[in-house]
Amino acid sequence: MGYNSFMDFSRPDNARTINRLKVLSELRMGACSKAELSRRLDINKVSIGEICSKMTEEGLIESAGKDLSAPGRPGTLLSINSKAGRVFSIEDGGKSFSVAVSDLLGRILRYERLPKGDAFQDQLLRLIEKMSAGDARIYGAAIASETETGISLPFPSVRITHSEAEAEAEVARLGDLESFLFISWSDCIAATIRKREMMIPLPDFPHMKAQKEGNCSCGGQGCLEAAASGRHLLETTGAESYRSLLGNAVYTDAIKRALRPMAAALAEAVQALSASSVIITGRMAMMSDEMYAYLQTMVSSLLPPARSDVTIYRSSAGENGAREGTALKALDTFFYNTELLSRLRAIEKISVPFLI
Ligand SMILES: [Zn+2]
Repeated sequence: MGYNSFMDFSRPDNARTINRLKVLSELRMGACSKAELSRRLDINKVSIGEICSKMTEEGLIESAGKDLSAPGRPGTLLSINSKAGRVFSIEDGGKSFSVAVSDLLGRILRYERLPKGDAFQDQLLRLIEKMSAGDARIYGAAIASETETGISLPFPSVRITHSEAEAEAEVARLGDLESFLFISWSDCIAATIRKREMMIPLPDFPHMKAQKEGNCSCGGQGCLEAAASGRHLLETTGAESYRSLLGNAVYTDAIKRALRPMAAALAEAVQALSASSVIITGRMAMMSDEMYAYLQTMVSSLLPPARSDVTIYRSSAGENGAREGTALKALDTFFYNTELLSRLRAIEKISVPFLI
């Protein structure tokens, strides 16, 4: 039951599509020989040979030298031809959008900022044309924004929130991060948790009750967002920028006051969601090690002893996280189709007991 609910894998063309995607996602992690692909993916050598010749012909993959690590006759290493395609990432920055173009491995090749305004749509299309120079195929775009942007593009696009994009960038850099809780802490607060290779947004997190008072944008009182958001901190301290807020000792007490409700919300969310660890992303991620230590101590003290090892990490992608993650979202959606593969893996896991 349910096995064929989204794609009939017994059909040869679908099976081929899946195997192509598996090869691409394996090569995305690094160059690999055909023999090694066959072993890792459990697909016979003849099929791997056919898939690889076809994709070499199409220009999607290319030879990357000889594999000298394996015993016997060295096989040829294959890798993604990163220049064969492009994706766009468009990031909503409030008063402007930043537009970036990336290769098939998610490396940002160029980026430019465009002010919002009446001429925006025309300027965007001209910029895309300029950035698309050459014959690389454009696979699609991801747009990082909390709201519908109304942007119209000549290729498919998908929307992602800033916090999801930041979380994607961490996963790309650090590995799977199963059950990690990501807190995007900038002007607003947003949370995402990663479960079974999927990013799950947690829209209630910024509106957890943190104190008695404080008007929140949601209409409620005393939400975490009202007590600890970056916007709240900038407004109440009068600091000119995040750099000044986080780099200036006079603001330490104000930040600590925001860390208390943050710690309470984190401790509650970690327990409710069985999160394994926490990564802070966004502008506030730049806060000092001393602030991280303060937050860690409070969260650990609020958690039951069995969970007190939950660690709070600083973002590893830093300020580029949202841009990197948006490009990855476009690649995942329109080139590597990672969602299809992870759904398939989930089904395979469930199906195994019935097959045996
Ligand atoms: Zn609220």
